[in-house]
Amino acid sequence: MEISVEFFPPKTPEGEIKLRLVRERFNQKLKPSFYSVTFGAGGSTQSGTLQIVSEMHAAGEMAAPHLSCVGSSRESVRDMLIQYRNLGIRRIVALRGDLPSGMGQYGEFLHANELVDFIRAETGDWFHIDVAAYPETHPQSKSPLSDLDFFVQKMKSGANSAITQYFFNCDAYFRFIEEANDLGVVQPIIPGIMPITNSTQLIRFSEACGAEIPRWIRLRLQSYGDDVASIRAFGEDVVTDLCDQLLSDGAPGLHFYSLNQADTVLAIAENLGLV
Ligand code: FAD
Repeated sequence: MEISVEFFPPKTPEGEIKLRLVRERFNQKLKPSFYSVTFGAGGSTQSGTLQIVSEMHAAGEMAAPHLSCVGSSRESVRDMLIQYRNLGIRRIVALRGDLPSGMGQYGEFLHANELVDFIRAETGDWFHIDVAAYPETHPQSKSPLSDLDFFVQKMKSGANSAITQYFFNCDAYFRFIEEANDLGVVQPIIPGIMPITNSTQLIRFSEACGAEIPRWIRLRLQSYGDDVASIRAFGEDVVTDLCDQLLSDGAPGLHFYSLNQADTVLAIAENLGLV
């Protein structure tokens, strides 16, 4: 079973120091198979991804940079691939990404399947490639079935595995797996897990990325108001149950969206007997 943890590149020196401590705690207690590091489309945190991935790789940790292609040229993506290969990085999360608002240029890649094709053409089998999956359907897709078809195409372009957008409804995940398998996908599709620690932030994120917060969870979170301790306790319980059900019913691993925090992910992992 593969357990992985996602970080974003810190924007301040204090954030960098904090992330080192967070990594140390994960290394000691959870020993994830790999850490992935997000990549901001349009330049915001792009150099930060390379920097943190280099630091993690030098520390002997398995680091997988995210690489988004929207707004990029073939030349710039080639340069990043060369940098990562020269560093010794063996795993990449390949994404289309989203154009930041006000930045209208799509660049030379329109969809993530083109990036997967390009990585394979440029670097052969050097990288293990993960792609994104959306059990509750990508918010911009024409229909759930077209989204599924494009996902299958992306997997058949040469992805080794997929990581899902987060969700709180197991049925959506298992149906998606079943349908993707029926269309010939044999690679693992790892559920992405979002810990619940802050209801306002979670509701805002979920609206943007098309993840549904079930009514009973949303109402309960709203009823706690500013009572952070109750939100955390309830969130830990709900997400532990979700992970437990996913693993019992055959999910091949868990990918935690840590938001650069260790406490809640480690508490959930401990509840699951993974620590
Ligand atoms: P695609 O697979 O290209 O899909 C995007 C849309 O286009 C979908 O609606 C799909 O149905 C449609 N589509 C796909 N292929 C085709 C085709 N060939 N022709 C026509 N339509 C098509 N964003 C970041 O900016 N940085 C990150 O680090 C980052 N990390 C992420 C990690 C994970 C695990 C996930 C799930 C998402 C992440 N995202 C990140 C968000 C992601 O970039 C957005 O969801 C983005 O809108 C879609 O990226 P994609 O790779 O899924 O795109």
